[in-house]
Amino acid sequence: MVHKWNVKQIRENKRYIESRLKNHHISGEEKEKLRLSLITNVSLLCASDSLFHTKLGYAINDLLSKKFSVCRERKYAQMESDMFLKSNDYIDEEYINFLFKIAQNLSADVNSSDSDIEFSKISLSEEDMIKISESFYQHLGDNEILTHAKKTLNGDTLQFQESSITGYEDAKGLNLGDWVFNKSYCIITNSHDLYTLQALNHEVMHTVDFYECDKLPSEKYYGFQEIPTYTIDYLFIDYLDELGFDNVEIQKLRDKKFTYLQDLAKLTILKIKTEVTKAKGLKAMKNMTAKDIMESVSVETMKHLLELESGVIAYGLQSQIKNNKEIGISNLKQFMKQALSKDKKPDFSDIGLTDEMLLELSSELGAYSRETIYSENIGKPKL
Ligand SMILES: [Zn+2]
Repeated sequence: MVHKWNVKQIRENKRYIESRLKNHHISGEEKEKLRLSLITNVSLLCASDSLFHTKLGYAINDLLSKKFSVCRERKYAQMESDMFLKSNDYIDEEYINFLFKIAQNLSADVNSSDSDIEFSKISLSEEDMIKISESFYQHLGDNEILTHAKKTLNGDTLQFQESSITGYEDAKGLNLGDWVFNKSYCIITNSHDLYTLQALNHEVMHTVDFYECDKLPSEKYYGFQEIPTYTIDYLFIDYLDELGFDNVEIQKLRDKKFTYLQDLAKLTILKIKTEVTKAKGLKAMKNMTAKDIMESVSVETMKHLLELESGVIAYGLQSQIKNNKEIGISNLKQFMKQALSKDKKPDFSDIGLTDEMLLELSSELGAYSRETIYSENIGKPKL
């Protein structure tokens, strides 16, 4: 059974949202919900090749000129539209110092790159992949998460495609939310390999996060939307290993997962140095302070720093789940259900991750990845 969304319904939803947007008395939050949902429904029509049969209003033209949010599977994901990249994340000097240390820990001694990882073809049908992902969420052992996952896996919001969608060539999976009709859609580009299976499982977790608490992008720190998905990515790779999939392919998944953060860390440090040099000169760069960084670097570079922290938080959560499933899952759910206050430095000690622990984990993650990648012995990594 292949799931397809109802194009007619989506066209109707789009029309409804457009008519609501014409109302000039809507609040800022309502407007954000409407605009995002409009983008989603337009994207779904694009993906269904139905866009040409729809009449584009000026509002959509305006939105389409900006890029949509693409799930950030790829390296150095390019920065997206203002709508997704608002610069209202709270950052002060203390926070910059902390984030920069994380970047340094992650990038220590790394000379790897995952750009050439190619996956072998495997004979798994879409139905097989759906079943495996469902069994993973079953295995995770939380009913609420399982119910949300099944809503996507067995519903009409998931679509496999053979070729990638124009504009999203690098993205293996795409997740699009409709805040008006409370739906979270996934599009998976099927390249018939283990990476596709992981992408499916990853996108499904985005929908779980959405159904747990449909926070708007402006309510979230940039990058932090990947915390629940990265967390389960780690666990899913181990799960596939337990199921007995090819070791070599499993190792490729691990390499891709771990080198992503390290490469991003290296790139971010390089960008910071370049931007500080440009703004304040070489001397300032050599004795760089948090103040220099704050005054010199672009919003995009700041966002990269935040994404690095989110990767470390996810790594921490997956360790918690491995050590004590109940506590770990409960912390993951607590994270999904809360909207972080954006007027102070985000604090994760209530889910068992103090700044000190995150710094430690970032060193461990750097070392762990090196060990995993360069170890002769391709066995299970120790955690
Ligand atoms: Zn994602």
